[in-house]
Amino acid sequence: MNRNPKLKGQSALVTGANSGIGLAVAVALANDGANVVVNYITHPEAADAVVKQIEDNGGNAISIKADVSKEDEVQSMFQQMIAKYGSIDILVNNAGLQRDSPLEKMGLADWQLVINVNLTGQFLCAREAVKEFLRRGMIPERSCALGKIICMSSVHQVIPWAGHVNYASSKGGIEMMMKSMAQELAPKKIRVNSIGPGAIQTPINTAAWSTPEALNKLLTLIPYGRIGQPEDIGKVAVWLASDESDYLSGTTIFADGGMLLYPGFSTNG
Ligand code: NAD
Repeated sequence: MNRNPKLKGQSALVTGANSGIGLAVAVALANDGANVVVNYITHPEAADAVVKQIEDNGGNAISIKADVSKEDEVQSMFQQMIAKYGSIDILVNNAGLQRDSPLEKMGLADWQLVINVNLTGQFLCAREAVKEFLRRGMIPERSCALGKIICMSSVHQVIPWAGHVNYASSKGGIEMMMKSMAQELAPKKIRVNSIGPGAIQTPINTAAWSTPEALNKLLTLIPYGRIGQPEDIGKVAVWLASDESDYLSGTTIFADGGMLLYPGFSTNG
């Protein structure tokens, strides 16, 4: 636990928090004082291990199983969270997946699964969080904001991605959903922002970093010269959830080692 925790007394829900980026975000929020719900859909033992890691660090956490693309499961997860921690202050909409294929071979089921989890799942969780923020009301000694929502987007809300049309479409959708929610909710003191990770070393993209050849190819896209780690995103999430970023609303913070700087042009195109 950090000595001057930025999120003391607040409660956070992180979806898809038993792996990769969500795991690191959950641990980072807890290290800064938040009570954390570790949402998962498969591998309960991995979720339990995250809870244990947080408790070993002196923090508080519980795990809750829910499929973020299912309305009833999302609503039940929020009820369980509110029963345990009293309310929610921070939602990190992180759960996501890929089902890649050339467009002409992409089945409707793979299109819908990716949109349902990556985009509709974020809507369903955001809606429940906003209902609870409004019900609970402002607690000024806890935060300047009524609530904070962080959407896990991607550099692919900007960079088109051949062979991943469903995934890139979901991330493009997140950008406009996030901005529209931010515009609607800012007058109510609810801040909605996104994080746009570049290439982060997690199970979602093992093929891109698990051999030296793949990693070297990937690094040609990253001016900063290293693949990102989940903890790089955890630090951004803590700051975006804290009052230190109180004037940010409707913004995407790209944490990508410069991937969006068009590195192909660095030697004059
Ligand atoms: P990951 O596969 O390690 O984690 C994804 C998590 O989402 C897992 O815990 C998985 O179980 C969970 N999940 C999947 N479907 C779910 C559902 N229906 N309900 C609840 N949880 C579900 O991958 P990651 O890299 O940690 O990805 C996390 C987020 O970051 C995703 O939204 C992904 O698109 C985004 N992202 C990742 C990268 C990267 O390079 N790793 C880059 C940009 C964006």
